[in-house]
Amino acid sequence: MDATDYCSKKIIDDLKRSKTSLYSFVERLFFASVSLYCKFLINIKCTPKTILNEKIFMYLISEKVNKMSELESNNNQSTKIENIIILGSGISGCTAAIYAARAGLNPLVISGPEIGGQLTLTSVVENFPGFPDGVHGPQLVENTKKQAERFGARFMQNIVLSFEKKGEIIELGLEESKKIQSKSLIIATGASARWLGLPSEHKFKGKGVSTCATCDGFFYKGKEVLVIGGGDSAMEEATHLAKIASKVIVVHRRDEFKASIAMQEKLFKTPNVSVLWNKEVHEVLGDIKGVNGAQLKDTVTGEITDIKCDGIFLALGHVPNTRIFKGQINMDELGYLKTESTKTNIQGVFASGDVQDRKYRQAITAAGSGCQAALEAEKYIHSLEN
Ligand SMILES: Cc1cc2nc3c(=O)[nH]c(=O)nc-3n(C[C@H](O)[C@H](O)[C@H](O)COP(=O)(O)OP(=O)(O)OC[C@H]3O[C@@H](n4cnc5c(N)ncnc54)[C@H](O)[C@@H]3O)c2cc1C
Repeated sequence: MDATDYCSKKIIDDLKRSKTSLYSFVERLFFASVSLYCKFLINIKCTPKTILNEKIFMYLISEKVNKMSELESNNNQSTKIENIIILGSGISGCTAAIYAARAGLNPLVISGPEIGGQLTLTSVVENFPGFPDGVHGPQLVENTKKQAERFGARFMQNIVLSFEKKGEIIELGLEESKKIQSKSLIIATGASARWLGLPSEHKFKGKGVSTCATCDGFFYKGKEVLVIGGGDSAMEEATHLAKIASKVIVVHRRDEFKASIAMQEKLFKTPNVSVLWNKEVHEVLGDIKGVNGAQLKDTVTGEITDIKCDGIFLALGHVPNTRIFKGQINMDELGYLKTESTKTNIQGVFASGDVQDRKYRQAITAAGSGCQAALEAEKYIHSLEN
């Protein structure tokens, strides 16, 4: 678009919205007229010298107009207040986006460091309703995103680094020192599982190494598995797996569990569960088909031994992605956001999915609470208008 077109379009737009100031109207009218006049001179072909002068003049005008337009778009960016921003592009954030977009709220989803969330780390999801043959995790979340986009949800690749509530407005700091404002916010930043940090563990992620017994236990029917950890979640994962697998061995780096006595008693009463004390995983072993064993290191003697198994379940706990909200939004001792029907203690700020659910952490529960959060946010935005 050249200077004439740009200025004319702006004048028309501003007049339509009755938004223009007299100064910018006159300025734009001036540039549009001068630019049109130069075009006319070039077209009627004056002497080569005049044409050169007019071209230089037009170039200068275009430069000035480009600067005007850049300044204007920067101003628009910093003053625009979104209706609703959703943090996280996992199943919960994408579901919230479907509902918010269908309610006409034009939501903006900020994808975060892990586009698509945890479901992109898994292969087949067999327990999400509506897929009798199962569905690939990445496909499920990609479909949900597309569904949200169909109704006008916008996705932005960025990470939120800071959060502040200023009166009724929520301000988020993004990478490259960008700021963004919104009337409401849905936090769906998930909770990341703790890993051992071994390269071999990453090699077999989804091929025998799992962080979710409820999700992946079914694939180990009649097989032998290790559960790594000594807290409540290790007890829970082991007793759950014991109903499916033929043998469950809990590997713990200390000589006693941190789990509650009740959970420990339940574990010790389960016949096909045994415990290896003072052992940690030194290396995950496997081949092209997946995990077939592990090297265990004795934490007292340092001795390394091999053990055969078909799968390894890490039960080392999860870390909710809530660091940026610390001191502002109420959370429990593990850092999960405290909610009441997805509402946090801050008006206009809602939370959904794993970030506020230390108990279930499933795709369907994350999607369900995403829906709830969007409906609550919609109600909140309407209450601001009335
Ligand atoms: C290996 C594996 C297999 C699983 N299998 C199953 C299964 O078979 N069935 C099942 O029901 N569940 C399964 N789950 C659990 C399921 O994936 C989670 O319950 C679900 O993904 C949680 O969704 P969520 O949207 O709350 O969070 P997540 O999926 O964790 O998404 C969080 C999102 O927040 C974003 N984010 C984080 N920090 C920021 C920030 N600062 N700014 C902006 N964005 C941010 C991330 O980039 C990400 O997009 C599995 C999990 C794993 C790890």
